[in-house]
Amino acid sequence: GPQIFPGRRNSQGWDLTSRADLRRIGAAMVPHLDSFAEAGPMLAGRPAGALRSDVVNPATGARVGQVLAAARADVDTALRLAEPWATDAATRAEALNRAADLYEANFGPIFALLAREAGKNLPDAVAELREAVDFLRYYAAGATGLTHPARGRFACISPWNFPLAIFTGQIAAALAAGNAVLAKPAEQTPLIAALAVGLMHQAGVPATALQLLPGEGDVGAWLTSDPRVDGVAFTGSTETALKIRRAMAENLAPGAPLIAETGGMNAMVVDSTALPEQAVRDIIASSFQSAGQRCSALRCLYVQEDIAPVILEMLGGAMEELSIGDPVLLSTDVGPVIDAGALAVIRDHTEAARADGRLIRDCRVPGQGTFAAPAVIKVPGIAAMEREIFGPVLHVATFRAGEIDKVIQEINATGYGLTFGLHTRIDDRVQHFVERIHAGNIYVNRNQIGAVVGSQPFGGEGLSGTGPKAGGPDYLPRFTVAAAPVQGM
Ligand code: NAP
Repeated sequence: GPQIFPGRRNSQGWDLTSRADLRRIGAAMVPHLDSFAEAGPMLAGRPAGALRSDVVNPATGARVGQVLAAARADVDTALRLAEPWATDAATRAEALNRAADLYEANFGPIFALLAREAGKNLPDAVAELREAVDFLRYYAAGATGLTHPARGRFACISPWNFPLAIFTGQIAAALAAGNAVLAKPAEQTPLIAALAVGLMHQAGVPATALQLLPGEGDVGAWLTSDPRVDGVAFTGSTETALKIRRAMAENLAPGAPLIAETGGMNAMVVDSTALPEQAVRDIIASSFQSAGQRCSALRCLYVQEDIAPVILEMLGGAMEELSIGDPVLLSTDVGPVIDAGALAVIRDHTEAARADGRLIRDCRVPGQGTFAAPAVIKVPGIAAMEREIFGPVLHVATFRAGEIDKVIQEINATGYGLTFGLHTRIDDRVQHFVERIHAGNIYVNRNQIGAVVGSQPFGGEGLSGTGPKAGGPDYLPRFTVAAAPVQGM
């Protein structure tokens, strides 16, 4: 089970039902809503830099800032100057805890940038900051218990959908274990990454132990094919993880670990004993919160035939109530998707379903910005979905009593295994699913998004990742020379 560190507490977060908290948040965000940020390589030496490009707000199209991509020479400088953080574990833990305090103190600029650079509404931004802070404190608490030395230089490569929490989690773990980190944020979210690295440096993480290398996919490719790299922590698509594994196999030392957390084809089963109101609330949250841009998000709902009409009707009603718009507005439930490329993929998918008469329902979206319409598409089963569609698109299949095992088999046959949701009031059925479904995280009678560091470690199996789970007791040792078996991928 999860490791309990005495004295460690998860971040308190903010209470969004409290007027006082909302006023405090609003006042702290306002000065950062029109600012223009600049980011570039943050190295222990002088950056050369390559192309400069604009960072654009996905909700408005406005420029949020500029980023200078790292040149190949910068990757070389970073690797040359990288020095494992060879101080005692208690000192490292102190700095990481100080970083957590600084993150919490800087909630104004952080929430503003999460909204403007990554399209996060306030509940998402609050949850994300809380998770980042929890990662820092959790790995800090684990640092002193490690029994093996650091590996050396770790490349940490992260996605845009949790540009603060996942970015920070990987780095905090690698640093807690004493590694030097070369951090590569997603190309869409370099500004929040630069803000985070600045705070970690301010907290006492040495410049040689943490360097930032923004840029496009090639920066990640350079890092993961350089023999000076001793390990890679990656979160992103399964496709990219497989590329990284090949590059590492050809170029890195055979023992260099790849810790990969990747995509999912996540299902939920709702049987005829489920409470419809509760199921619909959790279906809405699981598939449309964060505009469906969570690796854990619900992609395919299996609903028992006899209650399908009720569920679909209530789902339609709930979708009409969704407020889709600029994430800086407190009323916004669903913000934009990250960029025009992501929107095109989602839109093509939905339009193909509309053309075939499989689109059950979709929502209206604002005319500007990259908004994908929350949509529901009918499918015969999860096997009909070719791949993960990373947006607010829910696929729905029905099953009959007596087909439970067929449903389980179909879900497992995707080869992914990230999250799974179940709504039922039959206890034996819960047990039946838990014993058979291949998924890292299973949620019963609740939504299937939003793990909690230290109490719900998160990670998948099969095509969804290598393990060990982030925010759990086995994660940190993987960043040391202690051997650990690979679980998936
Ligand atoms: P992505 O395209 O795979 O990118 C992830 C990171 O890899 C980015 O920093 C990217 O850099 C970098 N990269 C791209 N090509 C590379 C290469 N050849 N070598 C090394 N690095 C490379 O994923 P994404 O679109 O940002 O994120 C969405 C995906 O992440 C979804 O599939 C989602 O399910 C998954 N995800 C999984 C988890 C989990 O915990 N299991 C959590 C969140 C997201 P550039 O941006 O510069 O291309």
